[in-house]
Amino acid sequence: MLAFAPIPLLFSLPGLLLGFWAQFRVRSAWNTFSAVSSELGVSGAQVARYILDSSGLAHVTVEETRGFLSDHYDPAGKTLRLSKGVYRGKSIAAIGVAAHEVGHALQDSESYRPLLLRSGMVPGVQIGSWLGPILFSIGLAVPSAWGQILALLGLVLFGMISLFALITLPVEFDASKRARQVLVSEGLVTGQQELSGVKKVLDAAALSYVAVAVQAFMALFHYLYVFLAQSRKSSKQEERL
Ligand SMILES: [Zn+2]
Repeated sequence: MLAFAPIPLLFSLPGLLLGFWAQFRVRSAWNTFSAVSSELGVSGAQVARYILDSSGLAHVTVEETRGFLSDHYDPAGKTLRLSKGVYRGKSIAAIGVAAHEVGHALQDSESYRPLLLRSGMVPGVQIGSWLGPILFSIGLAVPSAWGQILALLGLVLFGMISLFALITLPVEFDASKRARQVLVSEGLVTGQQELSGVKKVLDAAALSYVAVAVQAFMALFHYLYVFLAQSRKSSKQEERL
């Protein structure tokens, strides 16, 4: 079936290259700045706890979790989960990532609109990621008006996944901005050098979200291209009949 055919290089290469570049940047920024101890000598977990408490978010718990840079904030459980290197690390990189995750908790407490929108899209995106390809493939395989409607529904679901990746960008950029601001205002980073280290780590992470969005849109363009090519083919066949 066409929908499961590999996405041609023309559509997949830009996102893939950007993804590799982002991964390289994340790893190299982490390797560099996880080796630079913060002047205050506080861990990521301590920084997170301190900012949460001083922001009136004492009810948000901070936990250690498995995996490399698997750090995230869970809005439903009001829990901040930090990977080992961030939770225990006392480096510039660790406190930067910890403060970024606190940024998401701050967004949640302020009902930051893009975050609400993004959270609201999660169930739809979960369904769309498996139902989209199925509807699209069946739609293309059935040469009729119903087939076209099904394929279109599949395209809408693909579009929703792309939109989700797009809305993730302001959420991530804003969390990093909040992280830098609060680290400075609370005196948790000292000097321009520490701040620029934090910025490099967070910018690299932001680039990886940009890569995901580019990949999602290029996949959408590919499916749209397949859909239009198929519609043109079937309308030509109808003309011949
Ligand atoms: Zn984030």
